[in-house]
Amino acid sequence: MDDCIFCKIIAGDIPSECVLSTEAAFAFMDIGPLAAGHCLLIPRSHYETVDQMPAEEAAAVLGELPALVKAVQTATGCKGVNVLQNNGRVANQLVPHVHFHIIPRNPNDAWSFNWPAGEYTGDHMAELGDAIRKALS
Ligand code: AMP
Ligand code: ZN
Repeated sequence: MDDCIFCKIIAGDIPSECVLSTEAAFAFMDIGPLAAGHCLLIPRSHYETVDQMPAEEAAAVLGELPALVKAVQTATGCKGVNVLQNNGRVANQLVPHVHFHIIPRNPNDAWSFNWPAGEYTGDHMAELGDAIRKALS
């Protein structure tokens, strides 16, 4: 895609600190890190959101995730990571090319996560489960 910043990074038209490059996947350092070592794992092909990806391509990209997470943990010495994928503008996706954030985490670090868990009432959870199962079939 011509005006996609991540496609330009893959093409080498915009510089990046690449850490992984395969036939299907590319990973590089996030220029605005939430923690030192914050990386982005992306498909080489342009898809705006993860639901648009063919399953085989998603599998090939995410197949790189365990090794990349391990490498970020080894390199930074962090105690864990958040793997985050903002899918769609409403979910805070700013760059419209699928990307998985790997964000190093440590005890008492600066990043906090707003997790306003709700609760279901009545049959709502079962109804939604049923609707999702139907949509999958
Ligand atoms: P998101 O809000 O999930 O779309 O996140 C987009 C991410 O892309 C942000 O964390 C940015 O810091 C990162 N980003 C944007 N432009 C670049 C770039 N040229 N090189 C590396 N990371 C970038
Ligand atoms: Zn793109």
